Amino acid sequence: MRRKTTTVRIGEQLLSDEQPVMIQSMLNTPTMNVEACVEQAIRIIQAGGQLVRITAPGVKEAEKLKDIHTALQARGYTTPLSADIHFTPDAASVAARYVEKVRINPGNFADKRATFKQLSYTDAQYAAELEVLRKKFSDFLQVCREHHTAVRIGTNHGSLSDRILSRYGDTPAGMVESTLEYLRICQAENFNDVVISLKSSDCQVMVDAVRLLVEQMEQEGMSYPLHLGVTEAGEGEDGRIRSAVGIGTLLNEGIGDTIRVSLTEAPEAEIPVAQALADLCRHPEFEGNGASLKGIQTKPVIVADLSCLTVIDETVTASLGFIPGQPNDPVYGDRLHAGDKAPELIYTETLGPELTKLPEETRIIVPAELFDMAHVYNRNACPLYGVEDYLSASPATENEYRFVRLNDLQEWSTTLSERLKKEENTVIVLAFPVEYRLYRRAFRHLQQANLRNKILVQARLKGNDREWLKLSAASQTGGFFLDRLAWGIWLTASEVKDPCFTLELSRNILQSAGVRRYKAEFISCPGCGRTLFDLQGAVAQVKAAFGHLHTLKIAVMGCVVNGPGEMGDADYGYVGAGNGKVNLYKGRRVVRVAVPEAEAIEALRALIEQDLSHC
Ligand code: SF4
Repeated sequence: MRRKTTTVRIGEQLLSDEQPVMIQSMLNTPTMNVEACVEQAIRIIQAGGQLVRITAPGVKEAEKLKDIHTALQARGYTTPLSADIHFTPDAASVAARYVEKVRINPGNFADKRATFKQLSYTDAQYAAELEVLRKKFSDFLQVCREHHTAVRIGTNHGSLSDRILSRYGDTPAGMVESTLEYLRICQAENFNDVVISLKSSDCQVMVDAVRLLVEQMEQEGMSYPLHLGVTEAGEGEDGRIRSAVGIGTLLNEGIGDTIRVSLTEAPEAEIPVAQALADLCRHPEFEGNGASLKGIQTKPVIVADLSCLTVIDETVTASLGFIPGQPNDPVYGDRLHAGDKAPELIYTETLGPELTKLPEETRIIVPAELFDMAHVYNRNACPLYGVEDYLSASPATENEYRFVRLNDLQEWSTTLSERLKKEENTVIVLAFPVEYRLYRRAFRHLQQANLRNKILVQARLKGNDREWLKLSAASQTGGFFLDRLAWGIWLTASEVKDPCFTLELSRNILQSAGVRRYKAEFISCPGCGRTLFDLQGAVAQVKAAFGHLHTLKIAVMGCVVNGPGEMGDADYGYVGAGNGKVNLYKGRRVVRVAVPEAEAIEALRALIEQDLSHC
């Protein structure tokens, strides 16, 4: 069941909880180039897009929307268009006459760009700014009402106004209040064709903000539908997994009526990813107000599943991230060291001498019937029981680690609960069918039972379509790491037969949830009609040049208008400034302007090396 929403009409389409989740994307062609926009819009529509957004940086671009709309209609495409407006309320009012929906950004519709300088407002100053906002927005709503145009209040984490920052900071609560300022006007004006989005490049911030807004709207008697997205998700696998963790978590909780997966790729490539997420999350469970479920785990572990292997040798351990000790190492002998990316636990049904070399801190999980033999190879071996066998096993000694696997919540019993209370070192493995709501019910149940045992989420993935498996695992398990509920992740893909696939996927899910860091983090905007350079080429160059710097987060953004604000907490920014030039940022501070594109990578390298040499 999805969260109940009002019904919004966008052209001929209806948006509400009673409709399938609407899939959308955005053009990255210049708005003044009508032909290019029309061709790209058609590619999006043919891929399955149900709404196409187009940037309108100014009034002249907003006027062009009329031509784009007319041309699409003439070719038989009635899919609604949405204008994307920042800083220019006049352009919003023009666009509202020509397209079915207009997105405005509360951070810059009535307010100027945040300066981060005005840190305190008197109540009178605050109220005066709100009154200006009310007037401008009401005038705009009047135009929308006359033209039957829907509105999206699209709040971004990176572009909150000084007014909001002064009272709420750069927080989910600030995003919510920024949105509510506008929603309260819609409510007062009885304007109901309203959709909301709260986006961030940080999945945690995005999920927290949306959940908080839903709670707040319930308290204020509002039920506007929601558009979900993770901004600056990037491209390739990272962009997909980041989007799946953020969007999937909320869709599974019954929140979200339209989605956009923002990838730095051709816009039509976003559509199948978004559709897959909508399909994967088709059994949502909206729990309503006060449904929060937060844990305290901070650094989750990974189980590498080697059950598909019949031999474990040095090639296998090397591929997992274990490093041979130095010859004649007086401490380790021929023991292996755990590299930065090595899993903390290994599950195997195959025993052999390579297990003797694993480092002291690595635990080996084996089926209970192999435990005695496994213990001969490695003292860190631990048995994995089914519930029945666990209950009939002799009591564990004080420091003994055991694992008990639940295939279904129905296996839960008071007897099991009592035993687990006595054996707090026993780890509970939730190995349910891969569905977010089933795991979530179990977490709720276990919290109510007041157990202190650690919980591993095991996803036994079916099939061998790797793209689908990635989205499935990330969308169905990522939320438990955002909420710090799970102690670890254990992915099993028996049909893929490649333990490195599930290991790398586990790392990516934990990094996307912001709870582990295994590699440099790159965020990049999807590009739009404001993009001022070859964004995809720039992302590839930046990744190639700085991919080895594991501790850094680097943003590649398409324009200086929104890019710097939307970079969030990136350590460095590489931002297109137009005319073949790039501006370089350190945090939010611009440190080099108008660097020729051909020199920009080296300039960024020099900047980073200079900073690292001071560390
Ligand atoms: S940051 Fe990127 S997506 Fe956002 S407005 Fe600029 S070019 Fe467009």
